[in-house]
Amino acid sequence: MRAIRRFTVRPVLPDVLKGLGDLAKNLRWCWNTETADLFRSVDPDLWETSGHDPVRLLADVSVERLDQLTRDKRFLKNLRGVEADLADYLSGDLWYSGYAAENESAPRGIAYFSPEFGITEVLPQYSGGLGILAGDHLKSASDLGVPIIGVGLLYRQGYFRQSLNAAGWQQETYPLLDPNALPLTLLHDDAGPVTVEVGLGGGRVLHAQVWLAQVGRVPLLLLDSDVESNAGPERETTDRLYGGGTEHRLAQETLLGIGGVRAVRAYCKLTGIPAPEVYHTNEGHAGFQGLERIREQTIAGVDFDTALESARAGTVFTTHTPVPAGIDRFPVDLVRHQFADFGLPLDRVLSLGTEDYDGGDRGVFNMAVMGFRLGQRANGVSLLHGEVSREMFQGLWNSFDTSEVPISSITNGVHHLTWVHRDLLALLEAPSGSTGDSVVDGYDWNALAGVEDKTIWDLKRTMRSDLIAFTRRRLAESSANRGLGTDWVSNVLDPDTITFGFARRVPSYKRLTLMLREPERLRALLTDPERPIQIVIAGKSHPADEGGKALIQQMVQFADAHDVRERIVFLPDYDIGMAKPLYPGCDVWMNNPLRPYEACGTSGMKAALNGAANLSILDGWWDEWYDPAFGWEIPSAEGVSGDQRDDLEARSLYDIIENEIVPRFYDHDSKGVPRRWVQMFRETVAGLGPKVLASRMVRDYVTHLYAPSAASSRALEAETGGPEALAEWKRKVRDAWGGVVVDHVQSLEGEQVEVNTPIHVSALVDLGALSPEDVEVQLVTGRVGSDDQLREPRINPFPEGTEVDGGLRRYEGTVQARRAGSIGYTVRVVPHHPLLASTAEMGLAALPTGLSSPPSA
Ligand SMILES: *Cc1c(COP(=O)(O)O)cnc(C)c1O
Repeated sequence: MRAIRRFTVRPVLPDVLKGLGDLAKNLRWCWNTETADLFRSVDPDLWETSGHDPVRLLADVSVERLDQLTRDKRFLKNLRGVEADLADYLSGDLWYSGYAAENESAPRGIAYFSPEFGITEVLPQYSGGLGILAGDHLKSASDLGVPIIGVGLLYRQGYFRQSLNAAGWQQETYPLLDPNALPLTLLHDDAGPVTVEVGLGGGRVLHAQVWLAQVGRVPLLLLDSDVESNAGPERETTDRLYGGGTEHRLAQETLLGIGGVRAVRAYCKLTGIPAPEVYHTNEGHAGFQGLERIREQTIAGVDFDTALESARAGTVFTTHTPVPAGIDRFPVDLVRHQFADFGLPLDRVLSLGTEDYDGGDRGVFNMAVMGFRLGQRANGVSLLHGEVSREMFQGLWNSFDTSEVPISSITNGVHHLTWVHRDLLALLEAPSGSTGDSVVDGYDWNALAGVEDKTIWDLKRTMRSDLIAFTRRRLAESSANRGLGTDWVSNVLDPDTITFGFARRVPSYKRLTLMLREPERLRALLTDPERPIQIVIAGKSHPADEGGKALIQQMVQFADAHDVRERIVFLPDYDIGMAKPLYPGCDVWMNNPLRPYEACGTSGMKAALNGAANLSILDGWWDEWYDPAFGWEIPSAEGVSGDQRDDLEARSLYDIIENEIVPRFYDHDSKGVPRRWVQMFRETVAGLGPKVLASRMVRDYVTHLYAPSAASSRALEAETGGPEALAEWKRKVRDAWGGVVVDHVQSLEGEQVEVNTPIHVSALVDLGALSPEDVEVQLVTGRVGSDDQLREPRINPFPEGTEVDGGLRRYEGTVQARRAGSIGYTVRVVPHHPLLASTAEMGLAALPTGLSSPPSA
C-alpha cells in the first residue's frame, strides 16, 4: 500500500534534556569523545544499534529512560558540561583570529565546493578519499576557526551499501535517506524554505532546497532536488553520488556549481555573515561555480573579460587525480545545450573547457581545464602529484618549461581527532600551556618518548582487539548473509598476531589483488605455525566497474578457503564507521598502487597517526615523507610494463614481509615486547604526526592559497580601473604579442668558459606595440643535453633595457656558470603585470627564432 501522505514525527525531549537535541545537530559529536560518550550514556545498547547516530538514538529512546535521565544528577551535570564546552568551542578565539590579526590579506570568508563530503558514516555523502578529505578539511577549518562555508549536494541515496553474495560478487543497495532523520536543518527564511533555481538547458528549470549541516563552527550547505516543485525527472537529480549517465552528472554539477553559489548568497543574506572572498573548487566537478560568479557580474553590467578577471583572482582550484580516466569530461554538445540560455556568451563558456592543445580532444569539455582557466591559483595534493600535474597539463602553458607550469602543491592531511584511537590520543594530550616543536594543536606528538615500551605494547594490543571485535561482528553478519554459517567466525583473527590492513576503493591502479600474485607464498605467510600474519581487507568497487568487482571476488574467494579464513578477511561495506577501528588495529598498512597514480592517499596517514608502519610503493605522500623509521618502501618497477611489473613489485612485497617485517615484529624481549617494533611505533607518531595533520594542510591552504587569493582580489579592485583595466591590458598584450620579437642575441665569450667566469649576454628586442613596462625580458639558463633543451631552467630578469635605433631595445646582463658541464641559455620576453600570479599565467612567451649568433670578432 502506498501512503498518501507522510509525516515526520519528532521526538519530544523534556525541557532539562533539550540540550541533547542541539548537541545532536552539531556534528562536532563525531570528533569530540565527551559528546559521543554523553550520547552513549543515554542508552548504551541503543547507541550501538543506532550505528552511533545521535539523531536516531534520540528518536528511539524510550520515554521511561528519558524520564529517568531527567532525575539523574550525574547525567545532567555531564550534559551541562558538554553544552558549555560546545558553546566555548563555537565562540572562542582560535588560530585564525590570531592569523587574521597579523595578516591583512586573511579572507573574510571562503566557500569550499566539493561533490562529496565524508564527515561521519551517519551522513553517507562520500565514496572515498576525495570526500573524506573534504570532511577533514571542514573539521580542521572548524578547529582552527577558519571562516569556511562548505557547499555540496544532498544525495538521497548517498553512495551504495556493499554486501557480498555467496560467490563473493559485490551487491549494491541504495537505502533511501530521510533528511529529517539526519543531523540536518532545512534552511528557512520568514517566507518558508529557501530554494534556489537553476536552468538545465532547453527551458527546463531545476529547483532545490538547501539543508544545513553544522560541522562544528563550519556551515555545510547541501542542495537537494527532491522537492515538489520539480515536476519531472529533475526531481531525481540529487538521487545518488556518481550515479546515472553523463547528462545526469552534468545536471548534478550544474546544481552544485551554479546552485551552490546561489545557496551561499541566500545563506549569507539570512545570517548576515560576509560574502566569501575566496572560492575553492575541490576537484573539477564543482567548477561551474566560477561561471555563476561571472554571470552575477555581467548582470550588473560588467563585460565578460572583466568579470572573468574578478572571478579568477578569487578562485583556487585543486586537482586530485593523475589518472586520465578520473578527469571529468563532458561531450561539448551537452555543455552547449546546458548553457545555451545561461546568460553568458556561449563561445566564451565553451572555450573555458576546450582541450585546444596538442593531443587534446576538441569534442569534449574538460572540467579540470576549466578549473585551471577559472582559478588564478591551482594545486595538486602532494609534492609528487604537483610535479605529475605540471607535466600532465603542460599543454595549457606550452611555451613554458614544466617546472614553470603554475600548479603548486599542498599535501593532504587527516583530522587526528577523528582518526586516532582515543586511548592513544589520551597519551599524547599535552598538558595545557606546554610548548615545544613537537606540540601541535594541543597534542605532543613526541610524548611517547616518555612512555614505557610495555605500556605502548599493551595499548597496541587493545587497539588490535577492538578491530578484531569489530571484524567478527561484521563478518558474522556477512557470512550469515552469504549462507556460509557463523560458527567459525569467533576464531577469526588473533590479538597477538601481526595485523596488516588494506582498504580503499577498487579502481585498477590501486591493485587490490597484487598480494595474490603468488597465492602459495601468501598462504605460507598466513599459515606459518610460529609467526603467522593476518590481513584485514575492505573496499568498494564503483557499481559500473565489472573489472573491480571481479578483483573483489578473487580476493573473497581466496579468503573463503578454510585453511586461511581465520587469518585473512574481506569486510564488506567499507565506510568511516569501519575505518575508525581499522587503522588503529593494524600494525602494517599496505599500499601498492601503480606509481604515480595515487595522487596523495590518506589512509596510510591515518594508520601512521595510530603508530602503524606503512608498507607502500613510493607514491603520493609516502614518496615525500618515507623514512625507514616509519616503515618500508616497495620498489616501483616503473619502465617495466604490465604483468611483469606486477610480478616484480609483488615479489618485493613478499620479500619485505618475510625478511624484514615478520622477524622484527616477533623479535620479543624477555618481557614479551618487540622493542624495535615499539620504537618504530614511537618514531612514526613523532615523525609523521605533525606533518600528516589536516590542520597543517588547512593552515597551508590559508597561507599559500586563500590569503594570496584574497590579496589578489582586493588588489584588483583597488587598482585604478579595477579588473576592467587588467582585462583591457591582457587584451592589448594578446593582440600585440605577434609583434614581440627577440631579434638578435649575442655573447662575447667563446664556446669554452671556466667555472665562475661571467658570461655577458646582450639581446635586441622588438616590443612592437607594447611598452617596456608591459613585459619582462629574461635570461634563461640551464643544463643542456644533446637535444639542446634547457633543463631545470633558471630565470633572471635583465635590468631595464635601453632604446636603440629602429625602435628596438637592447637588454644586457651576465650569467655565471657555477658548475662545470654543458650549459645553455636563451632570452625570452614574457608579459609583466603586478596582478599576474605567475610568469606563465597568460601562457605567452616570445623566444628567439634562430640560434644565437657566434661571438662577434
Ligand atoms: C581514508 C579513507 C579513504 C581514502 O583512502 P586512500 O588511501 O586515499 O585511498 C577512503 N575511504 C575511507 C572510508 C577512508 O576512511
